[in-house]
Amino acid sequence: MRKLDGKVAVITGAGAGIGRAIALLFAREGAQVCSADLILARAEETAQAIAQEGGQAIAVQVDVSQRSSVQALAQQVIARFGRVDILCNNAGIGHIGSILECAEDEWDAVMAVNVKGVYLCSYFFLPHMLARGEGNIINTASVLGVVGVPKRAVYSTSKGAVIALTRQMAIEYAKENIRVNCISPGTVATPWVERLLAEQPDPEAARQRLEDRHPLGRLGTTDEIAHAALYLASPESAFATGMNLVIDGGESAG
Ligand code: NAD
Repeated sequence: MRKLDGKVAVITGAGAGIGRAIALLFAREGAQVCSADLILARAEETAQAIAQEGGQAIAVQVDVSQRSSVQALAQQVIARFGRVDILCNNAGIGHIGSILECAEDEWDAVMAVNVKGVYLCSYFFLPHMLARGEGNIINTASVLGVVGVPKRAVYSTSKGAVIALTRQMAIEYAKENIRVNCISPGTVATPWVERLLAEQPDPEAARQRLEDRHPLGRLGTTDEIAHAALYLASPESAFATGMNLVIDGGESAG
């Protein structure tokens, strides 16, 4: 018996990085997966990787910041699978800069994907969970929603909001048998982080600085975050709701 046999899981931002790792692991554990991403080719690549391993997945293009797009995603998932058990609100974008280095349109763009995206996806999938009397929502926040570092004004703000919204939804829907938790990773080696490092004048020195920020002396892996998501998705975490599971190599412990 696998941990997610018979479950339907929707994962946003499943085309790369942490979302891709969650999608693959959930499928290996028996879930039917909706791989949803802004870039359809990426969503399809993840779905194909799942199919190659013998799992079941569909790929859907979605912009989580757009109401009509998220509504269409929910309609496609229900049409295909008839239900949703697990929603991973994982899609997110970053921004580097202090508040004075963040233009209004950049502020709005990050908040639209990272915060409004969680609201919209929850808004359109929750009614289906309520109708079935069970559900599980897992949001990807960040350790930067818990601790501050320079030049992450809007990103930190957005992830702090995700942690607060996680708590709020957990309390709101606990009696309806819907659990809501979030994961706050430290820096994880994903395409996003590799892109940021490559843009630095000295990428290797920048990588070293980033690794040194974590007491464990390295970056996290996408699989380490996916296993946390699996724990939250599985019955083993049945007593956990409203939790922020910080997996940050010790970054926030100091
Ligand atoms: P990534 O950039 O490698 O992958 C993110 C995926 O989300 C991409 O495939 C992208 O196309 C998709 N996406 C972007 N905007 C979207 C939108 N509007 N609608 C739907 N999909 C969209 O990123 P990652 O590093 O895997 O990050 C995933 C999540 O983890 C994000 O919420 C991020 O904030 C969070 N996180 C990442 C790290 C890290 O170090 N990588 C640390 C803490 C938190």
